[in-house]
Amino acid sequence: MAEIRERQIIDVNSGKAAPARKRKPKASVKSPAEKKAKAEAVQTHAIVTAENQKRAGKYRWGAVGLWVLGLALEVLTIMLINGFLYIPGNILTYIIIGLVADLVCVVIGSQLWKKSNRIDPASEKNKVKFFLWNNMGLIAALICFVPIIIFLLKEKDLDAKTKKIATIIAVIVALIAGLTSVEWNPVSAEDLAQAQSDASAYTDDGIVYWTPFGKRYHLDEDCQSLRNSATLYKGTVEQAFEAKRGKPCSFCASAEAIEQYKAEQLEENAADFDIIDDVLTDNTAGTAAPETLTPNDTETLPEYDPNDGMFE
Ligand SMILES: [Zn+2]
Repeated sequence: MAEIRERQIIDVNSGKAAPARKRKPKASVKSPAEKKAKAEAVQTHAIVTAENQKRAGKYRWGAVGLWVLGLALEVLTIMLINGFLYIPGNILTYIIIGLVADLVCVVIGSQLWKKSNRIDPASEKNKVKFFLWNNMGLIAALICFVPIIIFLLKEKDLDAKTKKIATIIAVIVALIAGLTSVEWNPVSAEDLAQAQSDASAYTDDGIVYWTPFGKRYHLDEDCQSLRNSATLYKGTVEQAFEAKRGKPCSFCASAEAIEQYKAEQLEENAADFDIIDDVLTDNTAGTAAPETLTPNDTETLPEYDPNDGMFE
């Protein structure tokens, strides 16, 4: 049998190694009522704390600010190209500086935008709106690069060599901006609601796990797909989403796994009720249950004398 690797679990709140838990979270002792309530609880709306809404808002405004700055740099560079603005020196150098500065603004802006959408995700009920909202960075990249490419292609006053080099660089820069601004793995408010609901129902503390390279969150730190991970991070669902781990592990956090946990908890719940039934039956053994009594069934109460009202 392969030996399980020595593993380190890092709590992202403290940044320090956390002691491994002895027992699986779902194996904790709960009352039957608690188990039933947990197994049946369904959270339909994502809960985003006021603090996180505020943080997401800051990132969004930061993104918009940087995109506007990128657009301003594009306009300045176009003005240099068509001669509206004159600065002595090599025009190709200025165009390249303008394009690269524009790229930096667009790329950083888009990363802030994507981060805000992991902290406070949009609903995916309207697919078109969801796509456009998540890919606002791509739209910004198009606005910040397509016009300048068109200007370069149409420009007649630039010498052929400068025009060619500038156009090639502009296209490359536009591609980099576009590809880094696309949201390849969007998460929705529905994903967050599901994860929050599952984590609160099927773990003790709402804590989830993820690895340095994996793309998913795990509900179970002993998940089979984590067996070879020497380092695990633990944190809240919200922290996992922010760390780009917004999709459930297909082994321990998928819809099927949740159905299984649910069935297990309901089964444990039923078993607990059986134990309670047994205890109740034991306690009432000497005084038969009322419904089993019939007027002629005096055998069950032979020692009871109604006249003195006492058990002998
Ligand atoms: Zn897993």
